[in-house]
Amino acid sequence: MDGISGLVGGLIGLLVGVAATAAFRFSERVQRRLPEQPERELDDGLVRALAVLRSAAVVLDDDDRVVRASPPALALGLVRDGRLVHAAIRDMVAAVRRDGVIADAELDLPRGPVGPGTMLLSVRAAQATPQHLLVLAEDLTTARKVETMRRDFVVNISHELKTPVGALSLLAETVQDAADDPPAVRRFAARMQAEAARLSQLVQEIIELSRLQTAGAIEGMQVVDLDAVLAEAADRAQTTAAARKITIDVGGDTGRTVFGDRNLLVTAVRNLLDNAVAYSPEATRVGVGVKTVGDIVEIAVVDSGIGIPAHEQERIFERFYRVDQARSRDTGGTGLGLSIVKHVAADHGGEVTVWSQPGRGSTFTLRLPRAEEPAPAAAPAEPAIPAPAPADAPRNRATTGPSTRKTTVERTP
Ligand code: ADP
Repeated sequence: MDGISGLVGGLIGLLVGVAATAAFRFSERVQRRLPEQPERELDDGLVRALAVLRSAAVVLDDDDRVVRASPPALALGLVRDGRLVHAAIRDMVAAVRRDGVIADAELDLPRGPVGPGTMLLSVRAAQATPQHLLVLAEDLTTARKVETMRRDFVVNISHELKTPVGALSLLAETVQDAADDPPAVRRFAARMQAEAARLSQLVQEIIELSRLQTAGAIEGMQVVDLDAVLAEAADRAQTTAAARKITIDVGGDTGRTVFGDRNLLVTAVRNLLDNAVAYSPEATRVGVGVKTVGDIVEIAVVDSGIGIPAHEQERIFERFYRVDQARSRDTGGTGLGLSIVKHVAADHGGEVTVWSQPGRGSTFTLRLPRAEEPAPAAAPAEPAIPAPAPADAPRNRATTGPSTRKTTVERTP
C-alpha cells in the first residue's frame, strides 16, 4: 500500500512539474510576442496613437508590467522579461505615479547588459489611461555625435578662415596708405593675390570635405583607370614641383583599375603628391607608382623629404592637424589634405597608410580593392617607386580623406 501511495505521490509530483514547466514556457512565449500581444486590454485610442508613433513606446500596467512594447523599444533593449530594464526609467515611472505629472529626461544609459557602449535617450513618461502608463523614448545618440562633429568643424573652420581674411584686410589697409608708392602697391597686391588664392583653396577643400563626410559613399561608381589617375594627378602637381626643381617619377604596374570616382581619386593622389613636394628639399625626386598585392592595388607616393615623427603619424589625418603650423602655412597648406585622402580611401573601401622617418622621407600608400581579375601568376609585379618603404616598417593607418598641389612627369620603365 505504501508502495502504491508512494508511486501515486511521485506521479502527481511529476505532473505538477510538467504543468509548471509548460506554464512557464507559455508565459515566456507570450512575453516574446509582446509587440503583437495584448492589444485587447488597451484602450483603442491608445492603440491607434501607438501605431503612428515612431519612437520606442512601452505601455505598463498598474504593477509596472509591460503590456505592450513597440519593436524599437525592444531593439533598444528597454524591456526584458516583461519589465523595464533601466533603473533610471523605472524611477521616472515611479515619479509619474507619485506626482501625477509627465516626466521628461535625457538619459545616458548602457547600450546592453555588458560592454562599455552607451546610448543617449530622450525619455518621456506619462499616465496614458487610468490603467496604463506610457513610456516613450527617442534615441539621440547619432544626433549628438553629429552635433559634436559639426561644432568642432565649425570652430576649426572659423579659426582657419580668420587668418587669410585678417591678412587680406591688413594688406588692403596698407595698400591704401601706400597709394603714392606704385612699387609698394604692386608688392602688396601680389601678397593679396596669394592670400586670396589660399582662401579660395581653403574654401574649396572645406566644401569637398563636407561633401565627402555627408555623402559617406560614392554615387555612380565606375571602373577607373589608375594610369590616367596618376598621370593627371602628376600633371596637376607639376607646376609647384617644377618651381622647386623637384622631379615627379611615375612608375610601377600599368593597366590597373578600381571601382570608384575618378575625380576623387585624382584629388587624393594629387594631395599626396602636393605634400611630398611641399615637404621635400629643392631639387629632389618624388615618386608615385602602382603595385598589385592580390586583390588590392597600392598607390604609393614616396618622397625623401623632412619626414614625420612617429608620434605625429596618427594625428596627421585629422582635419586641420599640422606637424609644423608655420611650415604648413608657408607651403600654402590648409591641414585638410590628408583628411580628404582618408575619406576618399574609405569611400572606395580602402585605406591610407603612412611610413615615415624624420630626415629620411615619407611613403603614403593608398590601398584600394582592384576592379579586375587578378593577373596570371606569370606576371610579377614590379616595385612601384624609387624609394619604397621597407616592407617590414610599421605603418600608420587612416580610415578616410584628400588635398591638392604639383610635377615633371617621367614614366619610369
Ligand atoms: P597640409 O595642408 O598642412 O599639408 P595635410 O592634411 O595635407 O595638411 O597634412 C597634414 C600635416 O602632415 C602637414 O601639415 C605636415 O606636417 C604633415 N605631412 C603631410 N605629408 C607630409 C610629407 N610627405 N612629408 C612630411 N610631412 C608631411
